[in-house]
Amino acid sequence: MSQTEISRMKPSLVPLATLLGRELRGEKDEKPFVKYGQAALAKKGEDYFLIKPDCQRIPGNPLTSFSVFAIFDGHNGISAAIFAKENLLDNILSAIPQGASREEWLQALPRALVAGFVKTDIEFQQKGETSGTTVTFVVIDGWTVTVASVGDSRCILDTQGGVVSLLTVDHRLEENVEERERVTASGGEVGRLNVFGGNEVGPLRCWPGGLCLSRSIGDTDVGEYIVPIPHVKQVKLSDAGGRLIIASDGIWDALSSDIAAKSCRGLPAELAAKLVVKEALRSRGLKDDTTCLVVDIIPSDQPILPPTPRKKQNVLSSFIFGKKSQNPVNKAKLSAVGVVEELFEEGSAMLAERLGKDISLDANSGIFRCAVCQVDQPPADGLSVNSGPFFSPASKPWEGPFLCTTCRKKKDAMEGKGRRPTVIS
Ligand SMILES: [Zn+2]
Repeated sequence: MSQTEISRMKPSLVPLATLLGRELRGEKDEKPFVKYGQAALAKKGEDYFLIKPDCQRIPGNPLTSFSVFAIFDGHNGISAAIFAKENLLDNILSAIPQGASREEWLQALPRALVAGFVKTDIEFQQKGETSGTTVTFVVIDGWTVTVASVGDSRCILDTQGGVVSLLTVDHRLEENVEERERVTASGGEVGRLNVFGGNEVGPLRCWPGGLCLSRSIGDTDVGEYIVPIPHVKQVKLSDAGGRLIIASDGIWDALSSDIAAKSCRGLPAELAAKLVVKEALRSRGLKDDTTCLVVDIIPSDQPILPPTPRKKQNVLSSFIFGKKSQNPVNKAKLSAVGVVEELFEEGSAMLAERLGKDISLDANSGIFRCAVCQVDQPPADGLSVNSGPFFSPASKPWEGPFLCTTCRKKKDAMEGKGRRPTVIS
């Protein structure tokens, strides 16, 4: 097992139950205010966003409220971005068991995000349309922030003390060597565009298709190795709160995380979002769709995040979170600087590692529920643990939960199974 795999499988630093227990004991009983602003400039008109500050875990019960913020940066058309905006939230929520307590709900969320992203991708592909989209999807429940992302629309967190951290991973082939290896192993080719007698230009892309991203929703025509399985990170803010800046690459190609955070500190969210977009425009001009959401999670007795950066932490954070880092997965712990407690982080593209091993079986009926799309299916029609006959002797048996026929096919396709074997010389 490689070092990377070990780090992926690391347990949560602080068990969620412990944190929620502390909360129940009144150490952090106030729900924070969530204030937000949005700004955008369109070049191609392919950026979409979602703001839902009033969701409820239990419909009709305002005590169970949570907020959702998301950005969808479409490419090769807009239909995937629109489809994801309209369907992703429902697909995620349907993967969380009914009747879950708040603690169970938050613990189920990372897995439900994976299921929801994959389900949305399958549904979009079934429409037979082209186009694809990045997704950066943020769920805020109390002080707990959960971010799922495919593509390169970043979400950064700016906390009191001036610590800026990245909650997403850039799924760009140019900058992500792990993803390059995964795409190649699953049957894609990675290289630059060839023009004029073999000169290579532009960023690394995968072929066929020519996409610069390694993960997205949609992109039916590109290849299944461009997977919709999101990187997921769940953190708990201190009761000093924090600011999220969620933006498409129109911002991040112009501004570093640090500069974006610094450019708007101390300003209300609405104004902050406008200022970040303005700063990006000033630095680079309008080269791409540029969309920015700013979300402040603040103590209810404090109207605005105070602008009090501490210099020594700025040095640390810019060292850790520099954009040009060759290593896409952040090994540094936010909790190391005492600002944020890291609850969960997982970025593997393998469904078996993301969905867990338990099986959803209705014992009374003998019906299995697909862990991705939540469709009920008799087990004989789908895939369950130790289902050896579905595989050639060379492939490892599936060690994940039950998948329906459709989702099993999707899983195999994403892992490059079913294509002609490559001769390794
Ligand atoms: Zn399914």
